[in-house]
Amino acid sequence: MEKLKYLPVLMYHNIGEQKKGVSLSNFCLNPAEFELQLDYLLKKNYTSLDFADLEAILSGAKPCPKRPVMLTFDDAYFETLEKVAPLLTSKNLKGIFSVVTDYLGKASTWETENSASLTVSETQIREYQNALISFESHTAGHKNLAQQTPEENLSDLSLSKKRLESVTGKRTRAVFYPYGDYNEKVKAAAAKAGYIFGLAIATTKRTTMEDALEMRRVYIKSSDSFLDFKRKIANWYICFRGFRESVREKRRQV
Ligand SMILES: [Zn+2]
Repeated sequence: MEKLKYLPVLMYHNIGEQKKGVSLSNFCLNPAEFELQLDYLLKKNYTSLDFADLEAILSGAKPCPKRPVMLTFDDAYFETLEKVAPLLTSKNLKGIFSVVTDYLGKASTWETENSASLTVSETQIREYQNALISFESHTAGHKNLAQQTPEENLSDLSLSKKRLESVTGKRTRAVFYPYGDYNEKVKAAAAKAGYIFGLAIATTKRTTMEDALEMRRVYIKSSDSFLDFKRKIANWYICFRGFRESVREKRRQV
């Protein structure tokens, strides 16, 4: 566990051109800029992990790389997958796409900016998944879990896991909490549904792996400069500045 103290888990949404007619979205990153970030990770010898790797590392079955990193893409928009998958493949980097299982192949309804974007379909998941590209759960219905009852959450999370596993034929290990919102009851429901990892955004935990069901992520925004990106993935940022910002953000939510 100690070795994974500095695991930066990067959070992306869309990689593509900004949609015309809407205000500049921090969720939508320019592909050229994204590629620069990937090249920087390679230059600095980062090793990208998926959740099977993470489980193996935590159990001691695999050694921990010197500089681990996780690249996560929320909502699994097909437009993004289509651009990102070849890019990651050409650089031999792993990417994790979180899927809202009631919306496979449909347009999202939870983000007005992206409401016209289609999420991946079952066929596309099967077509794109490989040693580098994996899919994890972003719940069944993209509801705010912190506002649902434990029974509703257990049913939502179990359904989503089962559905995704039937599509991928692989174990679903992680759930990405919609809006990054969770509480102790949500975490308990996630564990009961069989998830090992829970992905938050802001948390009050100092390290990423202090609580596997409350993993903090680094939000990479389109307004970030390249220098911001370099700072955000640095160990000192994750443990100090990023930690402080995360605690402040978490307090605002409650
Ligand atoms: Zn989402």
